[in-house]
Amino acid sequence: MTTGTPAPFTAADYKARMDRAARSAADAGLAGVLVAPGPDLVWLTGYHVPADTERLTVLVLAAGREPTLVVPTLEAPDAAAAPGADAMTLRDWTDGTDPYGVTAPLLETTGRFGVSDNAWAMHLLGLQRTLPDSSYVSLTEALPMLRAVKDAAELERLAAAGAAADATYEEIRRVPFAGRRENEIARELAHLLRQFGHSQVDFTVVGSGPNGANPHHEASDRIIEEGDMVVLDFGGLRHGYGSDTTRTVHVGEPTAEEQRVHDVVREAQTAACEAVRPGIACQDVDRVARKVITDAGYGQYFIHRTGHGIGVTTHEPPYMIEGEEQPLVPGMCFSVEPGIYLPGRFGVRVEDIVTVTEDGGRRLNATARDMAIVG
Ligand code: ZN
Ligand code: ZN
Ligand code: ZN
Repeated sequence: MTTGTPAPFTAADYKARMDRAARSAADAGLAGVLVAPGPDLVWLTGYHVPADTERLTVLVLAAGREPTLVVPTLEAPDAAAAPGADAMTLRDWTDGTDPYGVTAPLLETTGRFGVSDNAWAMHLLGLQRTLPDSSYVSLTEALPMLRAVKDAAELERLAAAGAAADATYEEIRRVPFAGRRENEIARELAHLLRQFGHSQVDFTVVGSGPNGANPHHEASDRIIEEGDMVVLDFGGLRHGYGSDTTRTVHVGEPTAEEQRVHDVVREAQTAACEAVRPGIACQDVDRVARKVITDAGYGQYFIHRTGHGIGVTTHEPPYMIEGEEQPLVPGMCFSVEPGIYLPGRFGVRVEDIVTVTEDGGRRLNATARDMAIVG
């Protein structure tokens, strides 16, 4: 497992990202980008707001202009300490003044702007009132690939996060499952992720028996029994980058049907990972996985997309889904996670993070994908 702390990103790294975002926005016909607190702001500036409150914080990016972060005065010292602070200008506004009046002069009056998906509606409406002739589009819609292609330093962090998730799986499969509650196993998963360097745990799914048939099940009081299939899906952030892996284990010896369903999912996952290479479309990855499952007769039980991007968040574009024609590009990172969910009975999912290389794909998770037998 990769250990140690990677060299922090510098103001120059953040400046390059901000420049790229402003250029991409101009190429997409936008007058600029408005970045609200959240993953886009973290990626562009390294700034984690102390709390995302009703007070306006927004980064304004436009080609040919100095990047400017509008912040509440009381948070200006935090913003000034952000790793990317030297690459942008700070403009603060105090309580009792109009934050949109501070922001509006930074924008063209009739432009179309990309806005972070998670921006507060009240802020967007406030800007709209101040600049009635401007218009707005969601950043994911306008620039879906903004954060999708990772550089070497980002890939190193994603690989280290994947290795930590792998170490977590190697440990958890050694613990007793039978007679214990899903919640207890989930707590151990979270503990292990932190032990292996995660600063944030995003999810610890423990779906035993029929609960495994619900892909959105997290964990419950259900007591795991001998004979249960158990879906384990866990991840979070390590040094600011995500992990997300799934293995499905079985308590004791599986039935022939359980083994068969697991074999089909594993075959689908392998085929989709092997299909990854530059130039194929995101939807092709989904199609490859889906074909294996459909050909085996379980198509109607594969009820979600095959994968999602990962970076400074654990779920982001690009999506491996029918209709997504975006071609794969070296440096993209995403999950490949087909599953079969038999309602009321059990579910199986196998998930690895894969990165696109010059001539194929490389998995960032390396633990055995067969159905481990646990006690
Ligand atoms: Zn069983
Ligand atoms: Zn997952
Ligand atoms: Zn996932």
